[in-house]
Amino acid sequence: MPRVGKELRRLVILGGGTAGWITANAMLEHWRDQGIEITLIESPAIGTVGVGEGSTPRLKLFFDTLGISESEWMPRCNATYKNGISFVDWSTRPGFASYFHPFASQLDQHTITAFYFNTYARRRGADVHAHPDRFFLAAHLSKHRLGPRPNENFPFVVEYGYHFDAGLVGEFLKERAVGRGVKHVAAKVVDVNQSSNGDIASLLTDTGELIPGDFFVDCSGFRGTLIQETLNVPFVSFSENLFNDSAVVLPTEQVDHIGSQTVSTALKYGWAWEIPLTHRIGNGYVYSSSFCSPDSAENELRAHLGLLESDVEARHLKMKVGRVEKHWYKNCLAIGLSQGFIEPLEATALNLVCNTVYDFIQTVDAREDTDPDRDGFNTRTNERFESIRDYIVAHYILNSRDDTDYWRENGRNKRVSETLQRILGIWTAGQGLSQEMERQQIRSSYTPMSWNCLLAGYGHYPDIQSIANDHPATDKIDMNEVDEFIRRCSLNFASQNNALRFQ
Ligand SMILES: Cc1cc2nc3c(=O)[nH]c(=O)nc-3n(C[C@H](O)[C@H](O)[C@H](O)COP(=O)(O)OP(=O)(O)OC[C@H]3O[C@@H](n4cnc5c(N)ncnc54)[C@H](O)[C@@H]3O)c2cc1C
Repeated sequence: MPRVGKELRRLVILGGGTAGWITANAMLEHWRDQGIEITLIESPAIGTVGVGEGSTPRLKLFFDTLGISESEWMPRCNATYKNGISFVDWSTRPGFASYFHPFASQLDQHTITAFYFNTYARRRGADVHAHPDRFFLAAHLSKHRLGPRPNENFPFVVEYGYHFDAGLVGEFLKERAVGRGVKHVAAKVVDVNQSSNGDIASLLTDTGELIPGDFFVDCSGFRGTLIQETLNVPFVSFSENLFNDSAVVLPTEQVDHIGSQTVSTALKYGWAWEIPLTHRIGNGYVYSSSFCSPDSAENELRAHLGLLESDVEARHLKMKVGRVEKHWYKNCLAIGLSQGFIEPLEATALNLVCNTVYDFIQTVDAREDTDPDRDGFNTRTNERFESIRDYIVAHYILNSRDDTDYWRENGRNKRVSETLQRILGIWTAGQGLSQEMERQQIRSSYTPMSWNCLLAGYGHYPDIQSIANDHPATDKIDMNEVDEFIRRCSLNFASQNNALRFQ
């Protein structure tokens, strides 16, 4: 039974950033046989945000769903493989100056029990090795600049994400969508016409073209031209516990041996990313303008990169952190920065884009004769935003730095969600996160593995001396065996440079 009714037949997407072109490709692919007509309007004069170069494994699923092979898109987008993210200098606790957050893989099942056992024992006062890095293959691969693609006969599924040039990914997806029939209009939308019931009826461009539609997707970036400016859907700011609202971006040259991780280093008023692409390294400093001026942020980033004498130009950006109250309102769906943004610490924005698009598709497909379940869709999307926010907020409130007001203020911040308080409570009480999160029905975008890595990676443990001698465990895990297992597995992987050549 065809699901695309007349209310979705003529679909108009406003915005040709990564969000707009992901949406165009996904919806066209899914509904092409049902006669959907898609028009995408973008203004070359406004341009795209031009950042967003790291992904989670969700982007791989997106390319796989569309049948796009890595050899087709990666070389065109200067893309590299990503095993996860290294967090450097977030914690001052001895032995915890950095840790790695891996993408969870099938193989981790062989070491994760040992990791959980030791973090559990360590929380209850046992003096055991409980830093995440030694337990995960991805951490080992990243340390040695190995790619995540194993030899053909490797009997496990390894998850990974990518780094890429955001502009080139947009170009690639645009070419593909236009080649398959998406109509592309390069013009600026200067007016939005609404019907008497408040629905959007058409968009007027600066070239005088009137573009009517049945349904509109707002991918217009932070301004949210349709969802926020026209339909007045309120914006819920996350600024009370995510202070960063600005970024400064500076590229540097690629080195010979391309890395296979994002590095996120805490600086004085935020953190700097380092993202290896094939032709350059993307760097940026995400900071709070309440604590630091753009000039000081640029200077600090230049000093961090050894570029104080360089004339490479920096680009400054503002960020609006939070989400709209409703992502689907009237005949409009917001996707990408227009629907909201959580700062890029865990590179989750395109993950949210893909999940929003495919949830929308499923919600429309699932309807019977009644309206699709918009409320359910909006609730799920808000939950996704909020559970990612919790995970990001935890990075800040758990920091143990004392060098600036920024870090002290973050550490003192008590404005955290009830869910986050419950997760931290479970950890501090020395209970097992997996079972307790399940028992308390805590839904999080992040698995207990990720929570364990974050909390253990920060060294968020009680002092061993302060615990009474009733801890349940001594070190029953032979760490040499864990090390040996990971070392043997890693022999199946090529260097990032070679992995990229195999495509
Ligand atoms: C500092 C920073 C770092 C980030 N890092 C990451 C990361 O590592 N990983 C990740 O997943 N995400 C990251 N993001 C988010 C990521 O950049 C965005 O989610 C992604 O690029 C999608 O953006 P977008 O398409 O929604 O908006 P944009 O790229 O801003 O595109 C908006 C589009 O709308 C068009 N438009 C706007 N108004 C009009 C108009 N009136 N008429 C016609 N066209 C119009 C513009 O021309 C443009 O084509 C980061 C964001 C920032 C700010």
